[in-house]
Formats: sequence, structure tokens, C-alpha cells
Amino acid sequence: MIKDIESLRFGYETDLFRIITAQLGNTPLLAHTRAKNLLDIRRTDLLGEAVRITADLLPEIHETYQSCLDILGHGFSGELFVRQSMEYNASVFAHEKKFDVLVHSALLNDFTPDELAFVFGHELGHVLFEHSRFCVFDILSNPEGVSRDTADILFRWSRASEVSADRVGLLCCGKLSTAVTALFKTASGLAGIDMDQMLRSFRRQYEDLEKQLREASDDLSWVRTHPMIPIRFKALELAALDIVALRQQSGGFSGKGFRAIDQQIAGILEAIDINAVCTRIQ
Ligand SMILES: [Zn+2]
Repeated sequence: MIKDIESLRFGYETDLFRIITAQLGNTPLLAHTRAKNLLDIRRTDLLGEAVRITADLLPEIHETYQSCLDILGHGFSGELFVRQSMEYNASVFAHEKKFDVLVHSALLNDFTPDELAFVFGHELGHVLFEHSRFCVFDILSNPEGVSRDTADILFRWSRASEVSADRVGLLCCGKLSTAVTALFKTASGLAGIDMDQMLRSFRRQYEDLEKQLREASDDLSWVRTHPMIPIRFKALELAALDIVALRQQSGGFSGKGFRAIDQQIAGILEAIDINAVCTRIQ
């Protein structure tokens, strides 16, 4: 178990969380019993429609998953399932410390065990930071709904939550290069690209995206719960040294420096948020 994982939570996420709880109260919008029921329903679906990954079925992948669980520490329990899909995707549904992770088969076919550790870690990061506390889609699908302003902040928080989850992904896989490859494969569907080329590609695209977002005067016609991949890359690149130091428990993790990194990434997400405020949330 790694100590101080909580310090990896993206500061912008913490700020938005405070605003949400001030607007909605400190209780989860999903009632306790309903959240527990949803977990049970999802588990029934997984047992019925997906395949549980055990040490017997896929020993290497199971071991990778277990090593990620070890980082979370005691009390967390959840199984890993796979279902057929060509899409690179994974999800988790959690209720308190119980959860189930679902990965699409394309990930298991095309990603290395280390890259999968990034994916598993990302999903476990959502559990650790209790991101299911406010289920954005559930809240927005409620006909009684919440105000436009609150919905907007929920989207912002959801995007910021992905940065926090990626940090746990990197903590689990242990290397920036592995996380970068996993992100690059997810975005492009391409494998076998040289690391220097991937880094140059992400860095240039991040610079252009940042410029584009800061200069764009039009309303963006979308609102996304995930930050765009070059931003996720940049957030990881800036934080990588600290995250690896935390993993090694070498004392090289600097909380103060880490918050400065948060400010930089928050700046670019705020640029998206300012543009997105004017869009219509459907
Ligand atoms: Zn996520």
C-alpha cells in the first residue's frame, strides 16, 4: 500500500468538489440504498454477460490487476471482468469500497501488462477518490434535474476527476513511458510507434490545442466529461517525477511543487470550461 495517495488528487477537482457540495449539500445525490442496488444490478449483468478474469483463466493479467489492488491497500475489494468489444475502453462501478472493473477485450488483446496496469490503476483511482459519489449522468437524467449552473460544475468536476484517476494509473504502472503508450494507443489505435515520436506528437498537439482553446471565440458545441487526451498527457508529464517518487516512497514527492503543477493544468481546463459555459447541456 502506498501512503499519501490522497495527495495525488488534482487540486482543481478538490476546488470543484467543494463548490458542488456547497450547492448540493454534503450528501451523495445517489441515495445509499439505490447506489448499493445499482452495484448489485451491475454485478448480475457482469456475471451474466461478461467473463470474470481469474488467476486460472489469465494468470498474468490477474496478477497485474492484483498488484494494482495492493497499492490501494486493505478494505477495497473488486473483481475484474472482460467483455467482447473492439473499442479501447474500461469502466468501474463502485459503492463505497466495493466495486467491479470491466475492460473491453481489445485492451487485453493489444495492451501489454504494464499498459493494462495504467488502465486498471485509472479505474481504481475513480474508486479510491470516490468519484461515484456524484454520478453526473444519473443526476442529469433525473427529470427534476439540477440547475444549469450546477450541471456545468458537475461536468467540470467530472473532467478534473479524470486527471486524478490518471495519476493513480501512473502510480500503478510506474513509468511515464508506459502511461504515454497507453494513452497514445487509446487515442490513435496505433501500436509500435517510437517513444520519442509519441512524445513529440503529444507535446505539439497539446501546444496547438491549448492555443486553440484559449483563442477560440465560438461556443464549443460539446460538453465532455473527459478532458482531451493531449491535456491528460500534459498533466501526466508534468506530474510524473513526483508520482514515481511517491511510488518508490523515496521522499522525493513534493506536495508544494505538486500544487503548482495542478495550477498549470487547472488553467487549461478552465479555458475549456469558460468556452463550455455557453454551450447547451443536453
Ligand atoms: Zn476515467
